[in-house]
Amino acid sequence: MPQPKNWPTDTCTALAGMHIEGSFNRAALAAMDLQAFTARAKSQAVENKKFLKSLTRKDVRVVDEAFHREHEDVFAETNCLTCANCCKTTSPIFYPNDVERAARALGLKPGAFAERFLRIDEDRDYVLKSLPCPFLLPDNRCRIYEFRPKACRDYPHTHRKKINQILELTYRNTLVCPAVLKMVDRLKRHPLLKSA
Ligand code: SF4
Ligand code: SF4
Repeated sequence: MPQPKNWPTDTCTALAGMHIEGSFNRAALAAMDLQAFTARAKSQAVENKKFLKSLTRKDVRVVDEAFHREHEDVFAETNCLTCANCCKTTSPIFYPNDVERAARALGLKPGAFAERFLRIDEDRDYVLKSLPCPFLLPDNRCRIYEFRPKACRDYPHTHRKKINQILELTYRNTLVCPAVLKMVDRLKRHPLLKSA
């Protein structure tokens, strides 16, 4: 999944293996209701922003522990193949290594890849020219999964350390990622955070 382009680059272990990958039985998958998700995320936006901001006053290690537990639990019950909302709505940054890997996967020169798929944004970063991501397949798998950018591998960053440094980004991700919205819902009642 993509990462918002202002995401710090020194992050976290990858979400590899949980995202858009592999073969599957399409009939067994019910598409996530992204309209309902978006409506709920928007209706909870003010509350979620306030809650996440309140975590800056809590012990960093406890906040990490609570997030990491919820990250594991929520992704254990989330199938990204039913969703792909990140790939549909947000561009990752493509750093030079990412461009080289993705270009190689498609049998293109890096320059040709960049010219065809990328643009330079106002921060001088390479991002996708268009969304949904051109590598998102109709069944929500990623055409370049093994070679996708690091930003995609790391999304939604809820498993990284010092998550209190990225609470604003996490708030924005409640509006993109159903898994993050669910984590935040649960964290509001998390026993670790009540005593921190
Ligand atoms: S938006 Fe979240 S739940 Fe949906 S595919 Fe991306 S990481 Fe998975
Ligand atoms: S490269 Fe793959 S994982 Fe990244 S946004 Fe595109 S489809 Fe999603």
